[in-house]
Amino acid sequence: MSETAGAGRYAPSPSGDLHIGNLRTALLAWLFARHSGRRFLMRIEDLDDRARDGAAESQLRDLRSIGLDWDEEPMLQSDRRAAHDAAIDTLTAAGRTFECFCSRKEIQAAPTAPHAPPGAYPGTCRDLDDAQRAERRAEGRPPAIRLRSDTSRFTITDDLCGRYTGVVDDFVLRRGDGTAAYNLAVVVDDGAQGIDQVVRADDLLSSTPRQAYLATLLGLPVPDHAHVPLVLNTAGQRLAKRDGAVTLADLALVGVDTARVLSMMARSLRLASANETVTTAVLLDRFDPTRLPDGPWIVDPDDLW
Ligand code: GLU
Repeated sequence: MSETAGAGRYAPSPSGDLHIGNLRTALLAWLFARHSGRRFLMRIEDLDDRARDGAAESQLRDLRSIGLDWDEEPMLQSDRRAAHDAAIDTLTAAGRTFECFCSRKEIQAAPTAPHAPPGAYPGTCRDLDDAQRAERRAEGRPPAIRLRSDTSRFTITDDLCGRYTGVVDDFVLRRGDGTAAYNLAVVVDDGAQGIDQVVRADDLLSSTPRQAYLATLLGLPVPDHAHVPLVLNTAGQRLAKRDGAVTLADLALVGVDTARVLSMMARSLRLASANETVTTAVLLDRFDPTRLPDGPWIVDPDDLW
């Protein structure tokens, strides 16, 4: 075990109870952090429109009940407005932002710039002059703030996925309603928490080049990344609550207790044999990041109980 002063983290959006796929990702983030001698921190990403009252408490309770622990009070992203604004101010002072008045519809309808990667912001508001900006403001549209990017791609090296090059466009830093956008908040808050290891589901891999590039612009170190395979349903889609009893509360109702859920997750990670009762301490002893299965875990909720 190497000693490092760094930290890993789990950063759920409090949109409802965690399901077995989320819990497995959290377990992996904890195992990666503890295995490498790091601290483990929690951050509640409650800037999201999907945030629901009481969900964060319930998520933390479930994480504790499977045997995870963390080293500080969880950070609440909604408390971080001043830091998010300060980062945007820094970028603005460096000429790195612009106001964007486009609606989602307008962006979809705009012709894409030649050579721009698919899905990239088409650049509509990037070079507005003062008069054009004043005109749009007078129409009463609250502007979003976008990054003025000077690259269209950025490469990261992921511990599990290897080298990955992805799109970096003029992505949103602050939404029109004044809330920090996900990509900005993640980078600023990872920096503030001293996170140097990000373990999360691989559906977020495509956001990582944007975040890594932004970190470099803000003078923050780019953390190590390990994007772990998602948990899928039998149709090959990401597991969701509509798939059946997949949260601890729902599984308890059908007679599957938390110990059994941990045992199933451990087995899916090749850290336990079928029906073996384990603790997170035992899993940590057995954990070897080089021996993780590299495909998704396919879950048939009917088989869980
Ligand atoms: N809050 C995000 C989610 O729950 C995760 C963000 C991250 O891990 O960077 O999907």
